[in-house]
Amino acid sequence: MFKAFLIKYGEIGIKGKNRHLFEDALMKQIRHALRSVEGKFYVRKEQGRIFVDAESFFDYDEVIEALQRVFGIVGICPMVQTEDEGFERLTATVLDYMKKVYGDKELTFKVDARRAKKSYPLTSMEINCDLGEKILEAFPHMRVDVHHPDVLLSVEVREHIYIYSQIIPGPGGMPVGTNGKAMLLLSGGIDSPVAGYMIAKRGVKIDAVYFHAPPYTSEQAKQKVIDLAHLVARYSGPINLHVVNFTDIQLYIYEKCPHEELTIIMRRYMMRIAEHFAKETGCLGLITGESIGQVASQTMQSLAATNDVCTMPVFRPVIGFDKQEIVDISEKIGTYETSIQPFEDCCTIFVAKHPVTKPNINIIRRSETHLEEKIDELMKTALETVETIWVV
Ligand code: ATP
Ligand code: MG
Repeated sequence: MFKAFLIKYGEIGIKGKNRHLFEDALMKQIRHALRSVEGKFYVRKEQGRIFVDAESFFDYDEVIEALQRVFGIVGICPMVQTEDEGFERLTATVLDYMKKVYGDKELTFKVDARRAKKSYPLTSMEINCDLGEKILEAFPHMRVDVHHPDVLLSVEVREHIYIYSQIIPGPGGMPVGTNGKAMLLLSGGIDSPVAGYMIAKRGVKIDAVYFHAPPYTSEQAKQKVIDLAHLVARYSGPINLHVVNFTDIQLYIYEKCPHEELTIIMRRYMMRIAEHFAKETGCLGLITGESIGQVASQTMQSLAATNDVCTMPVFRPVIGFDKQEIVDISEKIGTYETSIQPFEDCCTIFVAKHPVTKPNINIIRRSETHLEEKIDELMKTALETVETIWVV
């Protein structure tokens, strides 16, 4: 019965020019999300409201699911649209709506009319009373409750008249594209896809970099990261995934540096390379899935040693989360099952038996001087041989 949806979005802090940018970005993201749904849809703005009109047959659940992945949406209201053709016509439409949605359920309701079209002959109060009366007549098992109604029936009189009462929660956040771009270090683990999701939720567009170390990491491990990027892209929109061949750098560090420092030094090179691509593509920050104390490379000292090589802000949205809390989000966003597939990622191959847990930055810097001979050349090759994959 529904052919249109009213989109509710948070309006705090989006006044003036910002509001315009927010709404345009939101409409763009809605269109993008609906592209994967069968059917033709028209997304439009009317007097500070965003509507989605279905112009062909569509699957209701699929549309709701797609809209629930669009950041910036606070609520999705399936609605019935009618025209301003007199009160009788409006009454008939409302009664039909109530019958189809609530049937003979015993419930309380309240009519909440809003008259944005000032030429309409009835005031909001009059619409509330008159429609309320008609509903009571038609459904004797329903009652009015103006304070805590089970059903708040909205009737908005605008260019058209819109009737809705259900609000399906959206993901909240801000539309992607309203807050710049950042580079996600995406591994095949549980944490980094969640980190990417969380930053995208704040309106940040995302690109990603993955450090691949063939033959130590398999083609399947790489495919897993592409699959994860695809899953994150359902929320964030398309991701440019940079696959960097990291093997030679890793082997060189392994050859020249103390093994217990390997992970830290490797992570410092990952950050340097990620920052290179971030700068090249206009990103304003890096994103990682690090969480304090989760592993040896994520102690406060290790994080400081890794951060030492970055000039950009590094966003670590899961920094204060327990593993289970991160797992819960990854299940909710649908990345968990892919993340736990058992393919090695490049960090796990070279881990030392007793990695330093409290690295001293000066010692790490000194160890890195052992790499002077060849590292620039290896970095250059890694940057030049990057494979960039457009993940939608
Ligand atoms: P994740 O579950 O995200 O893999 P993790 O718990 O395995 O994290 P680490 O392996 O120490 O932790 O990695 C910390 C962060 O460094 C990751 O969240 C990710 O952002 C980044 N990272 C690690 N390995 C890679 C890689 N091979 N390619 C890109 N980024 C990586
Ligand atoms: Mg990992």
